[in-house]
Amino acid sequence: MLELVIATKNKKKLVEIKDILNVRGIKITSLEEYPHAPRIVENGRTFKDNALKKAVQIARFTGKLALGEDSGLCVRALGGKPGVYSSRFCGKDKSDDKNNAKLLRLMQNVPENKRGAYYVCAVAIADKNGKVGVAEGRCSGRIGYELKGSRGFGYDPLFVIPKFKLTFAQLGEKIKHGMSHRYYALEKAKKVILKYIERRLIS
Ligand code: IMP
Repeated sequence: MLELVIATKNKKKLVEIKDILNVRGIKITSLEEYPHAPRIVENGRTFKDNALKKAVQIARFTGKLALGEDSGLCVRALGGKPGVYSSRFCGKDKSDDKNNAKLLRLMQNVPENKRGAYYVCAVAIADKNGKVGVAEGRCSGRIGYELKGSRGFGYDPLFVIPKFKLTFAQLGEKIKHGMSHRYYALEKAKKVILKYIERRLIS
């Protein structure tokens, strides 16, 4: 059976990726099974650069098909920040709580009509010979005025989905996993993986 290594140590992301990906005929593993994999420095200028770097390096290290993912939040009133720096927005000693506190502080005086934001997720697939494909997904919302909900992770308690007037942290995984940036990117990545499997079966 083909093995796909998810190049992440983030447990919450891994749960989301496994739940959404759900491709038959492949065995999904992660860096938990490869504790000696190199630490990847996320210094790309774009989400796609970082996702590709993760996928290529882990595929090279494991010799397996690998999936790299990079994601973050872009807030229009902040010129697209925190963007690729989403996980370390608050600085080196990072945490979701500190990131959310900083975001709330910066958005304190921003009026409702300027609180638009979107999540971006880039997913890259690579094998031991290099890049196989890259996909991106987005999800639009608004930044709330206080933390609401306890599900999800990261900025989810502040990310309001206008259609529901609820945050992703209030809506929970059933709804989030069917409309998130990760869902759209992984739906495209699934097609790349299926084509890859098909090519391997033919050649
Ligand atoms: P990285 O991709 O591991 O560099 O980190 C992505 C960061 O973006 C996370 O630490 C979160 O702060 C944020 N982020 C990405 N996707 C989501 C999401 O689905 N919900 C909430 N925050 C997210």
